[in-house]
Amino acid sequence: MTTFADKPARTASSADFIALDERWSTHNYHPLPVVIAEGEGAWVTDVQGERYLDFLSGYSALNFGHRHHELVSAAVEQLGRVTLTSRAFHHDQLGLFCRELAELTGTELVLPMNSGAEAVESALKVARKWAYRVKGVPEGQAQIVVADSNFHGRTTTIVSFSTDDTARADFGPFTPGFVVVPYGDAAALAEAVTDRTAAVLLEPIQGEAGVVVPPDGYLAEARRLCDEAGALLIADEIQSGLARTGTVFALDHERVTADLYTLGKALGGGIVPVSAVVGRADVLGVLKPGEHGSTFGGNPLACAVGRAVVRLLSTGEFQQRSTSLGAHLHTRLSELVGHGVSAVRGRGLWAGVDLASGGPTGREASEALRARGVLCKETHGHTLRLAPPLVIEESDLDRGIDALAEVAGRPA
Ligand SMILES: *Cc1c(COP(=O)(O)O)cnc(C)c1O
Repeated sequence: MTTFADKPARTASSADFIALDERWSTHNYHPLPVVIAEGEGAWVTDVQGERYLDFLSGYSALNFGHRHHELVSAAVEQLGRVTLTSRAFHHDQLGLFCRELAELTGTELVLPMNSGAEAVESALKVARKWAYRVKGVPEGQAQIVVADSNFHGRTTTIVSFSTDDTARADFGPFTPGFVVVPYGDAAALAEAVTDRTAAVLLEPIQGEAGVVVPPDGYLAEARRLCDEAGALLIADEIQSGLARTGTVFALDHERVTADLYTLGKALGGGIVPVSAVVGRADVLGVLKPGEHGSTFGGNPLACAVGRAVVRLLSTGEFQQRSTSLGAHLHTRLSELVGHGVSAVRGRGLWAGVDLASGGPTGREASEALRARGVLCKETHGHTLRLAPPLVIEESDLDRGIDALAEVAGRPA
């Protein structure tokens, strides 16, 4: 008897793999019914040999596309040397990675971790310790101000200050010490920042919320309020950073500097999870041996891939691509407003597209796009998030936008 496991991938159907996932993997996602077997650049191929344009890029973890050759070679070369040492010992990639990332980002010190959520957790811990030891906030009183509709990850502390009921319900009791204000409202922020504020934590553009760009001057005002109150500004650039918006940080567009930045997603080149907190030496410097760490954080393989990512970003080529392709994307998307699209937001090669009521929902549009060979994902009921890899060809970008125009303009 031939069992499912004996079938070579190419003869088993998508339905077989989907059934297997549904039987054995926890249902904490609701994926589109496509089973990817290979990827290259902006394209993926499913188990039946169908090709799709990737307009999601692993939520910006694949800014350089699938299997960028320089990233793959860096990984393969490191696989042939050493992959893990733990931080009990030094290795020959860590210091180089940290120096190169600090130089790229104009920061002083790097704290390497693995997932985005861990980078955010690390920044929160650092901010609290800094508040007690440097700012002089009374023990146990430090507050961190965050924005509503934020997305900073999935740990218990991080969902403690989420305003998304699905992300929070049944996961309490929650971590105290967070104050939530409306995103983009400078007056509300001014009211919330006090002498007990350790930090203000913001996404310069809110990705998960639907690629929401704050009003002009909001981020500069956040910087000013933090300076006035002696609080830290922490920019979560896990999704918005590393060339996604045309600059290393989305904050760069506003000429604003944060005290700490969290990075993740594209920092691992789509190969391994790599995250980091980067920022001021006097702030990250509050951590002493034993107070924080990670078995895998800063491992040799992660550092080698991260160094190759930094090398790609240091030429400016990807920032340039995001800027020029992004201008094209936004010009074309703005022409769809009134034709099944009610609003478009974003910056660089990154867009939130609100579908007009009366047309398909975000989920229906994602499924219809899949049927036309384009993969993207809804975020909330009627919004699609577009984040094609920065390596995409303009003709492929147009192909995806044409499919979107067709899908959005069609009655439900
Ligand atoms: C994805 C994301 C995170 C969490 O990253 P994980 O690697 O999934 O833990 C945090 N902040 C922002 C802005 C993100 O987009």
